[in-house]
Amino acid sequence: MWTCREVPDVASDYISREGSKRTRLMVAIHLAQCSNCRTYVNGLKIARSIAAESLRGSVPTALLHKLGLNTPDRGGSFKEPNE
Ligand SMILES: [Zn+2]
Repeated sequence: MWTCREVPDVASDYISREGSKRTRLMVAIHLAQCSNCRTYVNGLKIARSIAAESLRGSVPTALLHKLGLNTPDRGGSFKEPNE
């Protein structure tokens, strides 16, 4: 059985479905029993999906504002609110 300290080391592989089947299985078993690590992995998943969306330039501007990430979109059509 894995400990909570080991989960962060493999959480990224677990989420991206890399690493060995055995590793992913061990993580899944731990997550089934540990709400702290479930919260951690879920947070990591959300962060990764936001980052992935951001790279595709498809994050809604409203969400970026909410997160404090007022970055212009890739098309260059972003306008500052005060312009
Ligand atoms: Zn844990």
